[in-house]
Amino acid sequence: MEINIERMLNDLTTIVNYTKTPGNGCTRFSYSNEDIQTREYLFSQMEKLGLSVKVDAIGNIRAKYGTMIEKPSVMIGSHIDTVENGGKYDGLTGVLAGLEVIRIIQEEKLTLSRPIELVIFAEEEGSNFGITMLGSKVLTGEYGLEDLKSIQNEHGDSVYEIAKNVGLEVENVEKDVLRKDEIDAMIELHIEQGAVLETNNKRIGVVQAIAGMKTFKVTLEGDSNHAGTTPMDLRKDPLVGASTIISHLQKTAKTAALSTTVVTVGKITCTPNMTNVIPQKVEFFVDVRDVEMKGIEFISNELDKQVDEISMDHALTGKIELIGASDSMKLSPRIVGLIEKKAEERNDSYMRMNSGAVHDAAMMTKKTDVGMIFIPSVAGKSHCPEEYTRKEDIKAGGDLLLHVVKALAVNNNEK
Ligand SMILES: [Zn+2]
Repeated sequence: MEINIERMLNDLTTIVNYTKTPGNGCTRFSYSNEDIQTREYLFSQMEKLGLSVKVDAIGNIRAKYGTMIEKPSVMIGSHIDTVENGGKYDGLTGVLAGLEVIRIIQEEKLTLSRPIELVIFAEEEGSNFGITMLGSKVLTGEYGLEDLKSIQNEHGDSVYEIAKNVGLEVENVEKDVLRKDEIDAMIELHIEQGAVLETNNKRIGVVQAIAGMKTFKVTLEGDSNHAGTTPMDLRKDPLVGASTIISHLQKTAKTAALSTTVVTVGKITCTPNMTNVIPQKVEFFVDVRDVEMKGIEFISNELDKQVDEISMDHALTGKIELIGASDSMKLSPRIVGLIEKKAEERNDSYMRMNSGAVHDAAMMTKKTDVGMIFIPSVAGKSHCPEEYTRKEDIKAGGDLLLHVVKALAVNNNEK
């Protein structure tokens, strides 16, 4: 039994055309017109399958297939939103593989022992509000109504207002929190977004742990002044301070932290940002990740020390705010073992690995047994228009997902 890869890629081609930036990657933010178009297409496909569809307070879609809907379901899926100028495969591949698995199980007329539920998480990338996995955080009860009223986008609109504007019943947020007895297991298929599989020449990654992360906003304030008339020893230059901190973090992560620790500064704003003016203020963001929380703590402490020290040295005012955090997660030995067993039976070339990127699946570990299947990203590229995953790898991942779902949800005598 196998998925229909042509049909799945046809879905993919349809949806990647719903982009705000044609010719320059996929830009499909949650709650945008492109997101609404994508949802309409997916709803039409779900209707063909007779799924019972529910959209929750924040816009997560939960679509159930099967008759015994009171039983805990096997949940499969991922997200459909993207970063700005993102790739075609991130998130969407897992959603479409889930849809395709349900189609095959229906076409083969297999009898289920429990329902299969396709889940499509909203706002995974944090593109609107700067908070990743917002949909799965709301679904698992980490954020409530008050949080949604206070979290805002860069124009000052709250999640609450935006969700209401697109017709979501955001008041239901607490009522829609996932109960542990609703789900038996959750499996997310996702592109790797790195080059570990390609480097090891493997087609399937069986994920055993997902890195946790912390994101900090660092603000350094100095004294803006004339670039020509201010002697070097009279300057309070926050950009010089920021660059010292950034290069120190990079060195520390390489030499003193764990081998799995990674740290990135990818966003910096300098005010007034002019060629002939010493800056007044610099803001930058520090993203630190590890599968071991002690790696994250180590870098967080280094950042504290550095900001204190450098602020002192350069007569700056320094401030650090924690703007996002998620714990590292071990995935379920039951599901990880099953994925591995099925990969083995199918002669897939596979390896166990960790995920350096955070996924909705990580949030779901609080509620149920979770597994993840990775497929290769060519040259490890993701979150960019060049993101590419080969057809044969998507097929292998989709087929593996199908067999794992069969093992979990199809009546014993039909497996
Ligand atoms: Zn993703």
